[in-house]
Amino acid sequence: MKDNQSGKGLSFVKRIYLPRIVGLGMGLLSVAAAIAPLSPPMWAWLLLLFNGLLWPHVAYQWARRSAAPYQAEQRNLLLDSLMGGFWTVAMQFNPLPTVTVLSMMTMNNVAAGGKRLVVHGALAQLTGMLLACALLGTGLQLNATPLQVYACLPMLTLYPLALGWVCYRLAIKLAEHKRRLSALSLTDSLTGLLNHGAWKDLLLVRFQACQQQPLAVIALIDIDHFKTINDTFGHVVGDCVLRQVSEELRHNLREGDQAGRYGGDEFCVILPGASEAQACQAMERLRERVASYRNPQLPHLKISLSIGLAAYQAEVASADHWLERADQALYSAKRHGRDQVNFATREGTPLRLAYPD
Ligand code: GH3
Ligand code: MG
Repeated sequence: MKDNQSGKGLSFVKRIYLPRIVGLGMGLLSVAAAIAPLSPPMWAWLLLLFNGLLWPHVAYQWARRSAAPYQAEQRNLLLDSLMGGFWTVAMQFNPLPTVTVLSMMTMNNVAAGGKRLVVHGALAQLTGMLLACALLGTGLQLNATPLQVYACLPMLTLYPLALGWVCYRLAIKLAEHKRRLSALSLTDSLTGLLNHGAWKDLLLVRFQACQQQPLAVIALIDIDHFKTINDTFGHVVGDCVLRQVSEELRHNLREGDQAGRYGGDEFCVILPGASEAQACQAMERLRERVASYRNPQLPHLKISLSIGLAAYQAEVASADHWLERADQALYSAKRHGRDQVNFATREGTPLRLAYPD
């Protein structure tokens, strides 16, 4: 948890580094042009050089090395605001550089910390102003020279560009995370197949599509005596078996077929556009492939599958009803000796197609 927080803080610190270098570098020009005619003391020039050129790197290292980088960066942002307020008084409120510095800083605070940072930033600016009043005295300089106007232009153009770029990159990253999270929420973590919920959603979509084009088959596939496999070889081997079966499923299905892990040792497949014969052939092939699987390190490990199939038919009342019919066919396959494929008949009575007793 602590690591997570520092990870989050570090990326925040890194994100602010470039806009701060650009913003304060350009801000240095605006402020220098505004204070030059006011003959400030030498320490004010040194402070300006430090603030414009060195501070972004000091702030970066300071926050990066901190135990809580996020909080440290918030403090740095408030120090930025404090210095912004300080320079407005040092410039004797020369209108263009004052508005430039304060508005760019507020834009930065909104982007970095929302309303809270804007309010705290405004208080920090006020503190900076009071500090400058105490150290430099007050004055009012309302006329800007052409040089002072030009000195503000780099800040006015380059800083929004840098901040906009950072926000854009962040938006792209968030969209990517959202895509990944959404894919993860649909996937079974052990097998990489669709999980129960995602597959059931697809089943509902397929059921609705079948009202227009009534050609699809669903299959429920269950590993025989999987509990014994777990008990004999251990759960790690059991997990490998689940992965192996899901691999075979992937290899044996067509592009548009949708396979999922229904739960435990049970898998489910939608075969859109497949006839009963095609679905039966595909599932027989899968059953045979899995039955012939041998692991040289575990010569006694044998896997077999029981498979129940149900084609969409007009009398199927709902997606759940369709699934129930596949489940009945699977149950019948189990009852009749396992290691076989069974089709639900039109009346819902399962019909065994392979491996009679
Ligand atoms: P049947 O032939 O009737 O299907 O018998 P079975 O032993 O396969 O059926 P049962 O439902 O009794 O056993 C399923 C077992 O699958 C029980 C459970 O411990 C195991 N299982 C469920 N999920 C996992 C998993 O993710 N990994 C492992 N290794 N085992 C699991
Ligand atoms: Mg089983």
